[in-house]
Amino acid sequence: MTAAPAILILGPSALPCARRIQALYPQAEIHGLSGRVEGVERAYEDFGDTLRTLYRAGTPLIVLCAAGIVIRSLAAVLGEKDREPPVLAVAEDGSAVVPLLGGLGGVNRMARELAAHLEVSAAITTSGELRFGTCLLEPPAGYVLADLEQGKGFVSDLLGGQAVRIEGDAPWLAEAKLPVDNHAKRVIHISPHSRAASADELLIHPQQIAVWIERASADLLSELQQVLHSNNLAAQSLACLLAAPALMANTALHAAAAQLKLPLRFIDDARQLPPLHSQHANLRLLLAAAPIDAHQLGRPRGRLTVIGLGPGAAEFMLPAARQALDEAQDLLGYETYINMAGPLRPEQVRHCTDNREEMQRARHAFELAASGRRVVVVSSGDPGVFAMAAAVLEALHESTDAEWQRVDLQVFPGVSAALATAAKAGAPLGHDFCLISLSDNLKPWAIIEKRLQHAAAADLVMAFYNPISKARPWQLGSALEIVRQQRTPETLVVLGRDIGRPGETLRSLTLGELTSEMVDMRTLVIIGSSQTCRFPRAEGGDWVYTPRSYPQT
Ligand code: SAH
Repeated sequence: MTAAPAILILGPSALPCARRIQALYPQAEIHGLSGRVEGVERAYEDFGDTLRTLYRAGTPLIVLCAAGIVIRSLAAVLGEKDREPPVLAVAEDGSAVVPLLGGLGGVNRMARELAAHLEVSAAITTSGELRFGTCLLEPPAGYVLADLEQGKGFVSDLLGGQAVRIEGDAPWLAEAKLPVDNHAKRVIHISPHSRAASADELLIHPQQIAVWIERASADLLSELQQVLHSNNLAAQSLACLLAAPALMANTALHAAAAQLKLPLRFIDDARQLPPLHSQHANLRLLLAAAPIDAHQLGRPRGRLTVIGLGPGAAEFMLPAARQALDEAQDLLGYETYINMAGPLRPEQVRHCTDNREEMQRARHAFELAASGRRVVVVSSGDPGVFAMAAAVLEALHESTDAEWQRVDLQVFPGVSAALATAAKAGAPLGHDFCLISLSDNLKPWAIIEKRLQHAAAADLVMAFYNPISKARPWQLGSALEIVRQQRTPETLVVLGRDIGRPGETLRSLTLGELTSEMVDMRTLVIIGSSQTCRFPRAEGGDWVYTPRSYPQT
C-alpha cells in the first residue's frame, strides 16, 4: 500500500471506531459529513462525490457504513481491476471488516490487518486466497509477479484442480495450502532470470539484484537495460540502484531511478555491498541470495524542503507543501508555525526554536538532511518573503561541506501575508507594488527611510511587513510621516490582522485616520497609491482595489 488510506464516516457514532483504525494507519485522515461530524481532519458535503473523487485518485478507502451504500456510490466509476485502490466497508462498531474492491491492490491484506487490529475476522471471499491461504497474484514485498494476465489463468487452473510444483526459493509459499506435487506439469518459478513465459508456469521475480553505478553516463538507462539483457536477468528483479555519495546530486542517476521506480541508496562503505554478479563498463550487477530490502542498505539522499504554510487556513496551503509536511521526518521552525503545520504524527520530530535563531536553524536543518533525513523548514506565508528560504540559502552559500551541497534542497512557495490580505480586501495590489519590512533588526533604519521615500514618490502601493513590535515601537510612526509627505490623507489603507487564522480582522481606512495603535506585529499594512479606490460591498465594509491602468501624463 503506497498512499495513506482515507477513513470516511457518516455520523459521530462511527468516530470512536474510526479513531481506532487511525491508530493502525496514523497517516490516514478521517473524513466526516459536514455539519454532522465535528473535530475530524476533513469535512465533506456529499458522500458519493467524495468517495468517487478519492477512488479515482487511487486512495485506499475504509468506509464505516453499510457495504451497499459504498457499492452503489462507486458503481458508476468501477473501472479496470488492475488499477483500483483497496476499498473496505467496516461496520461502524468495528464488528465486521468487508474487503470490497482492490484485490490486486492489497485489499485482503488490509482487511486481515484491520480485522486483527479490531479483533474480529475479515470477510475474505476471494476463492484463490481462501483455498490457498495466499494471493498468488500479489506476492509479498520483495517479489514481483512477471505477468498478471498469465497469472490469472494460472490461478484458475489451480482452482480447477491442477497440481503445482515450486522451483526456487519462496518461503511464504511453503506456508500456503497449495496442491503441491513434485511431478506436476504446472510450476511456480521463483527466479531473477527473465524467460519466455509458458502457459504452464507462474513466474515470480525475487528482487535480489542491486546495481552499483560506478559512473552515471547520460544513457545510463539503456546501458543498464543492455546489461540486464546480456545477463538474462529481468528488470523486475531489481531491488535498487546504489552509488557512492559523490554521485548523490547526479541528475542522470536520479532520472534512471525515477524511470525504473527504484529506490536509490548511497553507500559509504563498499563492504556493505551484496556479492558481485558481473562487472561492466560503468556499472556492476550485484546479486544477493534473497530479496534485498533497499531501506536496510546505505542511506538515501537527504532532503530539505523549505515551505510556506500560507497565511494560516489549511485550504490556502499548497498541496506540495502539505505533502512535504506529511513526508517529513524532522520539522524545524518557530513553534507557532510548527503547531500550525499539523496534523503531524507522533514520530515526526519537531525542532521548535525561537523566531530569532534563523541561521542556527538553517544550519541544523542541513546537518539533519545531510545525514539522509527528510527535513522540512517551516515559515508562515511564503518562505522567500522575510522568512527562512534566504537564511537556508545563506547557510548553504557559506558552507564548504560537500554533504550539504548534495542535499536535495527545494523551496516551495506559499501565499504571503500581503497577497492573502489583498485578496480579502479585493485587489489593492492590482497595479505595481512593493513589499517592505519595517524591521530594522537586519538592516539600518536609514535604508528603510530611503526606500520608503522612493516608493512613496514612485506612487507604488506598499505592503508593510513587521510593522511594529514591543522592541520596535516608533518605526511605524516614522514610516507614516515619510509616506504622508508624498500621499494625501485620503489615500486608502488596508489593515489585515491574523488573516486566515482564528479571530482574523480586516479593515479599510484612510491614511489620515491611520495611527500606530491600530497596528501590531500580527498586522499587514497596505498603503494604497493615488489610484487605489473603494466602494461598499453588499455584506458591509468595502471592496478596495487599485485599477490596472494608470492615467497617462
Ligand atoms: N513569510 C511571511 C512573512 C513573515 S514576516 C509571509 O510571507 O507572509 C512577519 C510579518 O508578516 C508580520 O509582522 C505581519 O506583518 C505579516 N503577517 C504574517 N502572517 C500574517 C497574517 N496571517 N495576517 C496578517 N499579517 C501577517
